[in-house]
Amino acid sequence: MRSRYSAFCTRDAIYLHRTWAKTKQSHHKIEDIKASFSHTHWCRLEIVSASDNGVAGQVEFNAFYVSRGTPFVLHETSTFLHEENSWRYESGEIQVDSGKLGLGRNAPCICLSGKKFKRCCATKGFE
Ligand SMILES: [Zn+2]
Repeated sequence: MRSRYSAFCTRDAIYLHRTWAKTKQSHHKIEDIKASFSHTHWCRLEIVSASDNGVAGQVEFNAFYVSRGTPFVLHETSTFLHEENSWRYESGEIQVDSGKLGLGRNAPCICLSGKKFKRCCATKGFE
């Protein structure tokens, strides 16, 4: 889960493709994964809960990001399957409180840098 988040941050489409569950991998093209990176800057990952039984696992998280200077949160519960000695992403359920954050430009940044949002991540997500 954390390694997939890091791959989103570094825009590593090949890793993200490889860590889809086997039954899902063929439905996802590397070009489409690359296209999803556009105008998204990932700021912070917060794990809410995680559990597994060795075969399948669930992770609930908040991933904070900025798109064209506007802050958002993705609140998701993901299901992972243990395949070939690694955890692979099977599916995700996006929670209803995901979406645009009501954050003032002078508020502390969502990445917890200690800077004001307007001087930090608000300048991201344009590429
Ligand atoms: Zn920031």
